[in-house]
Amino acid sequence: MTVAALHKVSMAAKDYKSEVQTTWCPGCGHFGILNGVYRALSELGVDPTALVSISGIGCSSRMPYFINTYKMHTLHGRAGAVATGVQLARPDLAVLVSGGDGDGFSIGGGHMPHMARKNVNMTYVLMDNGIYGLTKGQYSPTSRPEMTAYTTPYGGPDEPMNPLLYMLTYGATYVAQAFAGKPKLCADLIKGAIEHKGFSYVNIFTQCPTFNKIDTIEYYRDLVAEIPEGHDNSDLGAAMELARRPGGKAPIGLLYQVDKPSLDEQLAKIVKKVNGSPDYDLNRIIDLARP
Ligand code: SF4
Ligand code: MG
Repeated sequence: MTVAALHKVSMAAKDYKSEVQTTWCPGCGHFGILNGVYRALSELGVDPTALVSISGIGCSSRMPYFINTYKMHTLHGRAGAVATGVQLARPDLAVLVSGGDGDGFSIGGGHMPHMARKNVNMTYVLMDNGIYGLTKGQYSPTSRPEMTAYTTPYGGPDEPMNPLLYMLTYGATYVAQAFAGKPKLCADLIKGAIEHKGFSYVNIFTQCPTFNKIDTIEYYRDLVAEIPEGHDNSDLGAAMELARRPGGKAPIGLLYQVDKPSLDEQLAKIVKKVNGSPDYDLNRIIDLARP
């Protein structure tokens, strides 16, 4: 993300709570993730006036309402595209996207690869519960075939996608995975993602007790395994191997992190090459694009 918004204020985690009451069901995993976000923002001293929380549509996309900062609740699947525009127009701001598995990988599936490969300087927190919750329980890209839902009453025909392999393949420069039942780990990984310069992606397993009756908190607790000590998180091959779930266990922790120029830095280089200005200025970039 950007360092400009970091270490600017001293606020307790509770001070990042907005006045809007949460609307999630009792037992929803999203509460743990929201607490992780509050904690990460507090520990990093993020200036709430220099932060934009952006989402698409879904239960998880309600997150911006609950954070005391600037926010944009956009179209289904389009949060990343809007966030890319915000980041390029105002690279001095910290940009935090939150959304679900359906919103990100189905409706918004066309945007995800490009945020990653362009290394847009922002953080994407994907709250993965293997179902569409807000629209009352439909099969999503991360649903397991044995899950029954309104759209698949006899189970589904597809293998679930692997978000970590997807992000690693498309070139995300920070890839981590967490579980809502471990809020401290959520906070630590979100914190690392916000500090990271470039596209940072955190996949967080989160139970939907209302509609997904098989991916329970107990299921996720058994599924996950902390990444072993000694994992070299600069090694793409090692990260991919972990992402493939060796031994049937989904890794939690930081899989991969590398330092590469972000999209706004690359654009600034082009501007400098063309007209000698070392400063990033979106208007100059737009001028260059004019015939
Ligand atoms: Fe959470 Fe599921 Fe309720 Fe949505 S429907 S708030 S994801 S428990
Ligand atoms: Mg979902």
